[in-house]
Amino acid sequence: MLVLDGKIASAAVKQEILAQTEVILSSGKRAPHLAAILVGTNGASETYVASKVKNCEEVGFMSTLIRLESDVAESVLLEAIASLNNDPTVDGILVQLPLPKQISEQKVIEAIDPLKDVDGFHPSSAGKLVQGLPTFIPATPYGIMLMLEHFDIPTKGKHAVVIGRSNIVGRPMSILLSSNLKRGNCTVTICHSHTPNLKEVCLSADIIVAALGKPEFVKADMVKEGAVIIDVGITRVEDATAKKGFRIKGDVAYAEVSPKASAITPVPGGVGLMTIAGLLKNTLQAYLTTQQ
Ligand code: NAD
Repeated sequence: MLVLDGKIASAAVKQEILAQTEVILSSGKRAPHLAAILVGTNGASETYVASKVKNCEEVGFMSTLIRLESDVAESVLLEAIASLNNDPTVDGILVQLPLPKQISEQKVIEAIDPLKDVDGFHPSSAGKLVQGLPTFIPATPYGIMLMLEHFDIPTKGKHAVVIGRSNIVGRPMSILLSSNLKRGNCTVTICHSHTPNLKEVCLSADIIVAALGKPEFVKADMVKEGAVIIDVGITRVEDATAKKGFRIKGDVAYAEVSPKASAITPVPGGVGLMTIAGLLKNTLQAYLTTQQ
């Protein structure tokens, strides 16, 4: 069984990005620049944004973090986005989700200039993805594709089952795996909370992408011998014995599923790290599109 180690695959992607940044800087140009907006103080969001900023530094990018109070008016957030849209020194913009109740996530997503939409959530980016046009691919599915490439996992003609149909993970993942790409050309089944025979569907899968947000949902009796298992789930489960008072759990029961799998991503240390790699690739792409 091969552990699809996100540390190894993301380090390789980041090394390539750093090399490209060094070429840019040595030609006297400014570095690619990612601006992140964080609303409120949600613990998980704080961790994700801090990690994104730190990773920007590691590959030589500039980053700006804008913090807004949790009770901020929607109009103030939209103004902040407009200002970043108009700033020629900012290449990529991300607004960390989820947002407080008074703010429409859809309005925020649609306010970002599609040329700076490094999260790939804008309807324009999503539409291009569906049509197979060049665009920003949402960072998590993009990171998974990079991981499949890094570990040379064959996908052509395989049956891939994607559990979850969100706009940020499941749906774009299903589109990529079914597309005519080097790591695509799968026959894809997309499952969701109304899928009645999930266990049977999963048992016929060569590749399972679990992105439903239910800790240890995928058990050994749902998995075919030799399947490739991609675990997207990140849930904080309370645990008094843990230092931080919680543990991070994936959507797959790793201990019982891994002996049956031919390859599997760990949580933590798997898809999460690749998501950041995908975001950095998108930021570099945004920079190159407008600066060259
Ligand atoms: P979401 O809540 O938007 O979507 C969950 C999807 O799962 C829905 O489409 C729903 O229909 C489906 N679902 C729920 N219960 C189900 C069930 N019992 N059977 C089948 N399908 C079911 O979640 P999301 O934003 O797509 O995130 C999913 C998980 O991935 C979460 O744990 C999230 O924290 C994690 N995540 C991880 C990364 C990463 O970088 N590793 C990035 C994004 C999200």
